[in-house]
Amino acid sequence: MNKLFLYNTLTRKKEEFRPIKDNEIGLYTCGPTVYNYAHIGNLRSYIFADILVRTLRYNLGEEKVKWVMNITDVDDKTIRDSKIKYPDLPSMEALQKFTKEYEEYFWQDMQSLNVKTPDIITHATDQKYIAGMQELVKNIVDKGYGYIKEGSVYFDVQKFAKNHKYGNLINLDMAGFKAGTRVDADEYEKENVQDFVLWKGYKEGEPVWEFDLNGEKLPGRPGWHIECSAMGELELGCPFDIHTGGIDLKFPHHENEIAQSVVGYNCEQPINYWLHNEHLLVDGQRMGKRFKNFYTVNDLKAKGINPLAYRYLCLQTGYGKPMNFTWDALRAAEDGLKHLYNQVRELGRERGEVDSRFKEKFKEELNDDLNTSQAMAVVKDLFKSRIKRDNGLATILDFDKVLGLNLYEELRTTYSTTSTSTSTSTSTSSSSSSTTTTLQPEDPGFKLKELIEKRQKARDHKNFEESDQLRDEIEKLGYVVEDTKDGQRIYKK
Ligand SMILES: [Zn+2]
Repeated sequence: MNKLFLYNTLTRKKEEFRPIKDNEIGLYTCGPTVYNYAHIGNLRSYIFADILVRTLRYNLGEEKVKWVMNITDVDDKTIRDSKIKYPDLPSMEALQKFTKEYEEYFWQDMQSLNVKTPDIITHATDQKYIAGMQELVKNIVDKGYGYIKEGSVYFDVQKFAKNHKYGNLINLDMAGFKAGTRVDADEYEKENVQDFVLWKGYKEGEPVWEFDLNGEKLPGRPGWHIECSAMGELELGCPFDIHTGGIDLKFPHHENEIAQSVVGYNCEQPINYWLHNEHLLVDGQRMGKRFKNFYTVNDLKAKGINPLAYRYLCLQTGYGKPMNFTWDALRAAEDGLKHLYNQVRELGRERGEVDSRFKEKFKEELNDDLNTSQAMAVVKDLFKSRIKRDNGLATILDFDKVLGLNLYEELRTTYSTTSTSTSTSTSTSSSSSSTTTTLQPEDPGFKLKELIEKRQKARDHKNFEESDQLRDEIEKLGYVVEDTKDGQRIYKK
């Protein structure tokens, strides 16, 4: 493969990526804490992780990357808000019902943004992971880096910092550290370097798991940081290759993940490459509910904006730069996306072959720490070049394996929805010289196109029973059918 360079937060350098194993790359992404809708700042992290995974696969092949993402379905916030929403349910039931709902919304957002589904999705409350977390806590305690206080278990940061490095991802001022001070909260400021909680002792009204730690009964629940250390190790081993997340997770979450795994798994460097995407600002400000600038995918949809315009905007910026979100910037991105769709449509339906020179350039930009803004410039160059006439379509569809802008689906939908007005005859006598050759049966769009045409006929004949059956068949292929006054509108689920 071409060399792939990634900016590693651990070394503060752009480094050549060297996987631990040739045949499989392990990648872990800190997933959402499912207590609310994800806002576009959170979503930037998942678009970034998706681009990274797609880039690795573009270089190495589909089967070489194992992508794990967790769902944090137990922590301070999920417990707090599930109690508010379902005060009458037992706490465990309330937590499960509440987090399931927001997890559903999350996957809908991922689909709208065309983020691939991770190979493995881990839920923190899954019994096998709870058992793994408890084992990790026990290892830490047995090695003398954890202690019990009032029913909870804490990590001894001072002892750790004597023998290992604490402050791998950010510079921590250990001078201000007060030994023996503890913090129970999952999230805290960098100024307060304190012993953090591994296992939280039972509090009334909270969901509870039994935990027998060397004979001592410690009913309670895991802390947030221990969740990711344990789930990462259980699925990918220790060490593994890449860990991603938003920049705000560097401390305390990721720093504590490192400390836990170093001790508990006897692994001096648990993860070789730490990648963090930069902040998202809204109109130059931090995003937050109290600033009333907390935007979700549903907000984009409500304004009639295709969520993929947001993906396009993220691609233009690149993950490593702070991004300032404005509605104007998003609308400009949507215009850019529409323009790209038009350009792709104008290429006709002759695929040609992937142009190796353009592919090389495109890959070179991606492999330079996922420089997607430059990769998008290569796309522009492609449409300016002569290559586009013969090999444009194959080349741009190849690029879209990484860009993920649904170019293929857009193309197919266009031809499918307009097919009732244009001839679908397979006769080649008069149209052989034109670029509008019909889809071939082996083409994935072929069946869809057939179904759409059949359904249109059924509707023209007011045969609504058949039309409904055909709608079901179309939906089975992963598309949604909408009947508008201008005819059927088909789009990807
Ligand atoms: Zn995490």
